[in-house]
Amino acid sequence: MTFQFSQEHEMVRQMLRRWTTERLEPKVDDIEDGEPPYELMRDLSRTFGLSAMADSTFARLEKKAQAADAGDGDSKDDSKDLGASGGVDPALNAILSMELARVCPGFMLAFGASMGLAGGAIMRRGTLAQKQRWGRPLLCFDRIGAWGMTEPGAGSDAFRAMRTVAVPDGDGYVLNGQKTFITNAPYADILVVYAKIDRRDGTASADRAIEAFVVERDDPGVSVSAPMRKMGMHASPTGEIFLEDCRVPADRLLGMTERASGRAGGRDVFHAERTGMAPMCAGIIQRCLELCVDYAKDRTTWGKSIAEYQLVQDKLARMFMHFQNVEALMFKQIALTRERRSMSPAEASATKLYCARATTECTLEAIQLLGGNGYMREYRVEMLMRDAKLLQIGGGTDEIQIINIARHLLR
Ligand SMILES: Cc1cc2nc3c(=O)[nH]c(=O)nc-3n(C[C@H](O)[C@H](O)[C@H](O)COP(=O)(O)OP(=O)(O)OC[C@H]3O[C@@H](n4cnc5c(N)ncnc54)[C@H](O)[C@@H]3O)c2cc1C
Repeated sequence: MTFQFSQEHEMVRQMLRRWTTERLEPKVDDIEDGEPPYELMRDLSRTFGLSAMADSTFARLEKKAQAADAGDGDSKDDSKDLGASGGVDPALNAILSMELARVCPGFMLAFGASMGLAGGAIMRRGTLAQKQRWGRPLLCFDRIGAWGMTEPGAGSDAFRAMRTVAVPDGDGYVLNGQKTFITNAPYADILVVYAKIDRRDGTASADRAIEAFVVERDDPGVSVSAPMRKMGMHASPTGEIFLEDCRVPADRLLGMTERASGRAGGRDVFHAERTGMAPMCAGIIQRCLELCVDYAKDRTTWGKSIAEYQLVQDKLARMFMHFQNVEALMFKQIALTRERRSMSPAEASATKLYCARATTECTLEAIQLLGGNGYMREYRVEMLMRDAKLLQIGGGTDEIQIINIARHLLR
């Protein structure tokens, strides 16, 4: 299976490159220092017409719904019809992710959590009315989203150990629980939170169905923490969500009907997070290569450019090797998505494991290649390294990916 970016794709890349150079790069220090990144996201959305793209997505959805109402049985499942990329060319999504991560991975994380994780969960599972009410404003950044699965005692074992509950109550639910490490939570308007359905019927917690609910920042019983202080991804605010006797109507349950196996929605998002990481990694490694090649040609020691030393060349060659592999995995994912297919769970885990490890290795080596300057903020590689480390933790740790792969190999 081969895939290459077309000339049109390269033109979009150039337009994005211009935006990141002129608009994002000059703001990186400010957003790294705590300025929320959302105005810049709105700028990006306006510049690239994300509203118009959302309009065409919704025009198709509404047409399908009308056809379904008129009795055309083939038109009923609008979410599947849009495919895993929400109807947008997956190559364009990948280029966007690469270009944003190349300049500021934290910005890309916050952008992706709002549109891809929260927006994606709603667009995959929501009813048309839910998509119109919450999905659309997330797709064009009129509102900001967060996706809350992880809890203080439930991370790698998120499904099993989850303690957040939704108790059916009259025509709605009462939510109680706490989420942590949630990207965008401190500022998000729309929060997708996962909870176990607790019918008070004695079902063991580990066996209860898990469903996704939409809560809004101003709903009674919802509160969020201030941004947490962390090692990297400073451009992406991270926080906690608290749900205290938060009573929501039935239309907050994504899909409006409880499923027999209520874990599929969360699994879909994990899968998307794993396969979707390759473009972000490609962008970071590409930036390391650019910075390192320029620096190696420029810096001299003992009267020679450091680019002439084989130990330095080895670092560049390894970065290039990783870039080739990460790019190939990204192309594989794009090609599958275009065919409405997707990687198997083991392939998705192997993709994330390889890409995240390779990216951390490249960013560490980039710091080394730049010597003392690599340790300094203005050369950017230290930000890339701090940000890259998260990729081995978020969306399932390296160890969890290894377990998934081994489970597949040994079944
Ligand atoms: C910056 C940031 C942003 C995030 N954004 C979000 C978000 O938007 N939404 C969200 O829901 N979550 C988010 N997360 C949470 C993230 O997905 C979790 O941190 C991650 O899944 C790991 O869970 P944990 O932190 O509880 O680690 P733990 O599960 O406590 O793991 C601790 C260590 O034990 C290892 N381990 C656990 N179980 C096993 C096992 N069976 N075998 C071997 N080793 C094991 C792990 O690999 C890890 O090394 C974010 C996290 C960070 C840091």
